[in-house]
Amino acid sequence: MGKAMRLYWGYIAVGALIVAWSQQWALSVIAALSVAVFAYASFQVPVWCGAVNRDGRTYCRNNAYGVLMGCRNRQHRWQKIKMIVLRTKVGNVGRAVFPTAKEKFNGFLAVAGLLSAIAAVVVPVVTGG
Ligand SMILES: [Zn+2]
Repeated sequence: MGKAMRLYWGYIAVGALIVAWSQQWALSVIAALSVAVFAYASFQVPVWCGAVNRDGRTYCRNNAYGVLMGCRNRQHRWQKIKMIVLRTKVGNVGRAVFPTAKEKFNGFLAVAGLLSAIAAVVVPVVTGG
């Protein structure tokens, strides 16, 4: 795979997932694509780190991979996960972790992938199929 392909394959998975739902592909395929989208947005997509810097007012702008991950600074990783999971008052989560439309979009993809995966599991249970 080329570099762009390696960095952005998740968006191809997103496109495939949308087609899969609209064309009613096998739910196992939909579930697999959903998990791929969630994993990509959470742990691989190139984003800003977004942890709060030492000064408490600015946010880290190092490169990170995945909206749940921080940069190479281990403290930043923990801080980010804590911010998201515990919604602590360490700065503003929205501004820190999702500063631009790109980060917001990737955060949305992570949630959408998760919901889609759950739906693919729940739908056959509900419909009896
Ligand atoms: Zn950082």
